[in-house]
Amino acid sequence: MLLSLLCLSLAASPILGPWPSAFPAKALCSNCGLCKSSVGVSSVADACAFLGDGMSRLEKLEPAVHGRGREYEQGDLAEAHFGVHESIKLAAGVGIEGAQWTGVATGVALELLESGAVDAAVVASSSGEAFGGPEPLLCRSGEEILRGRRVKPSLCPSLAVLDEVAADPAITRLLFTGVGCAVQALRAMNGGDPEKALGLEKGGLLVLGTHCVDNSPSPEAARRFVASIPGVGEERAADVTAYEFMADFRVHARVKVEGGGEETVKQAYMTLPPSVGIPSIAPSCFSCFDYTNGLADLVVGYMGAPFEGGKDEMQRAPLMVTVRNERGRGMLDAAVRGGKVRILQEGGRGGAALPSSGSRAAITMKTVAADSMVKSLLDPGFVAGDRGAPAWLGNILAAIIARGLPKGLEFARFSIDYHYLRNRLYVEKEMRGRTGGGERHVPEFAKAIMHRYEEDMAGLRGRGVGGGEKE
Ligand SMILES: Cc1cc2nc3c(=O)[nH]c(=O)nc-3n(C[C@H](O)[C@H](O)[C@H](O)COP(=O)(O)OP(=O)(O)OC[C@H]3O[C@@H](n4cnc5c(N)ncnc54)[C@H](O)[C@@H]3O)c2cc1C
Ligand code: SF4
Ligand code: SF4
Repeated sequence: MLLSLLCLSLAASPILGPWPSAFPAKALCSNCGLCKSSVGVSSVADACAFLGDGMSRLEKLEPAVHGRGREYEQGDLAEAHFGVHESIKLAAGVGIEGAQWTGVATGVALELLESGAVDAAVVASSSGEAFGGPEPLLCRSGEEILRGRRVKPSLCPSLAVLDEVAADPAITRLLFTGVGCAVQALRAMNGGDPEKALGLEKGGLLVLGTHCVDNSPSPEAARRFVASIPGVGEERAADVTAYEFMADFRVHARVKVEGGGEETVKQAYMTLPPSVGIPSIAPSCFSCFDYTNGLADLVVGYMGAPFEGGKDEMQRAPLMVTVRNERGRGMLDAAVRGGKVRILQEGGRGGAALPSSGSRAAITMKTVAADSMVKSLLDPGFVAGDRGAPAWLGNILAAIIARGLPKGLEFARFSIDYHYLRNRLYVEKEMRGRTGGGERHVPEFAKAIMHRYEEDMAGLRGRGVGGGEKE
């Protein structure tokens, strides 16, 4: 490994071999694209989110990016959960058709490019068909920005376009949109000075992030997942335009219907065959501790926003927007002034003024213990079943469980805690042989979040399953 990294830094040739075996992070590679660019590949040893310090590198970069690191303690974990921020708000995109939700991400990118605040923007486009592979696109027009609409639910090599950026002297200000692992690699490249490596002016890099968790390793894996949803199946898998895991304990899939338009198929999580879970998630995403995209200037996601249920929620529900710093504030203000985004509610620090109810205390460890990956890590003989619950039973169970689930920001905390706990068990095993093991990879803020679950996690490791949780 050491030798191959040394060779990489000397040669600085993009990696063109098969993914993931030809890539330095091997099976854990999230295909972020850094290794696919000449300007980025020489930084891989010090920038890849899955090598060396791994995900813990992000908190070391925060002071340089945001002007300060996260401030948190056990009695106030707001920045441990949501990262360095000035405020968390609810917002909606205005007049953006065909977005994943209401198009806040697309609205911000459109405004920044059309107003000339940036010369170009990177978005995740796709090869055209539903579940076509996500492809990074360096946009110089609003029409191109619109190709970034909607989540393409598999790993996107967003940083592969960095050579195009570096080669164009007309680009001195760039908007990069992407998920946490790619943003980390971008911020860390060239010794933490990506602007110089890319020929941008000082302060010329703006980063718009999305939340991200449990991404699929490939478009095929995402398609197999979608085909397993009752009511979608193989027949309609190619017609699915978007899907999300919602706070009502159901997966919602928007599917094209004959004659135009879309319908939303909603199925309880437990109606899905348990065996589809693990292959639908990339190993990198089982090793990820950057759900809330800590190094972006401005972040959009849905998990902490209120969710009323009903028809067409994804086109109506508010999004949660985290403003991390002055640059992020300027980006959001510009989109609001330009009429492309509307602020629905100011939440202040920690989103303290936003809706949040219930408690994650009772449900988090139960969710961890019931997770297929956790069961397979703790019991080598575990085999996930290949049939889900019948729809009538699954829907009754989902209704009961959803009633006990926390809502709003507390739902976001529940989701973060559960994913970090599961992923900690994963990296403990998968990174066992490395210098520093999984401990080195896991950021301190994630350890602080997991602190309250230590006793139950020890019980889980010891017993194989189970465990309650203490607040
Ligand atoms: C893989 C993935 C998983 C996510 N999981 C969650 C989650 O669990 N909880 C949560 O709160 N939010 C999650 N999000 C964020 C959320 O689904 C929406 O992207 C976000 O809320 C913005 O909605 P929008 O309507 O403003 O997006 P749109 O205006 O439709 O814009 C979509 C944006 O996503 C980018 N994008 C699309 N596909 C990819 C990809 N494969 N890789 C990188 N960027 C991409 C586009 O470039 C564009 O900027 C996830 C996003 C991604 C990409
Ligand atoms: S995650 Fe990115 S930087 Fe790391 S090996 Fe893969 S492509 Fe390279
Ligand atoms: S879950 Fe993490 S590792 Fe996976 S694509 Fe998203 S940010 Fe990258």
